[in-house]
Amino acid sequence: MRSSKFVRALPAAVTAVLALTAGQAVAAPASAAPAEHTAAARTVTYDASGAAEFKDAVAKGAAVWNESVVNVQLKPVASGQRANVRIIADNGWPRTLSTGLGSGTIYFGREAVDEGYNTVRISSHELGHILGLPDMKPGPCSSLMSGSTAGVSCTNPNPNAAEKAEVEDSFGLVGAGATAAATPRMYRD
Ligand SMILES: [Zn+2]
Repeated sequence: MRSSKFVRALPAAVTAVLALTAGQAVAAPASAAPAEHTAAARTVTYDASGAAEFKDAVAKGAAVWNESVVNVQLKPVASGQRANVRIIADNGWPRTLSTGLGSGTIYFGREAVDEGYNTVRISSHELGHILGLPDMKPGPCSSLMSGSTAGVSCTNPNPNAAEKAEVEDSFGLVGAGATAAATPRMYRD
């Protein structure tokens, strides 16, 4: 039952990709994914062109997630394509507008950086919101989603086991490319 549902979901996902890329060169479909990821890995693209001095922290935060989970992978968007996620540096507090699982806008706020918070932890924390995780505050440094409540001295950019499992579950359930309807939500940290 579960596997037949998953198989039926794939053509819809492919159709969505084709619709999004209509009029442009269509990227290679899931068959280009590494064999060990078989059918389930979904690619979420990000555009860090507005991330100013935080571009490197964004890439490192994405790498953290790519090493932590298999059901979703974060990749820089190809030139001329629309990204699922935009990262924009600004002078406010870091925050993320989620517009659905795997999509939204991250505001990489300098306010927290100026206070001394670690930029890679900020990056992977905000990407965690993009991947469907809520804030889990207050919490220890071992929790990525405890965010600023772990203190300025906390530089851990890695999700803990529960945080990884939640992301794996979310993306495993929707399958490759399928996005559940979602109400936009702002995470103000
Ligand atoms: Zn947060």
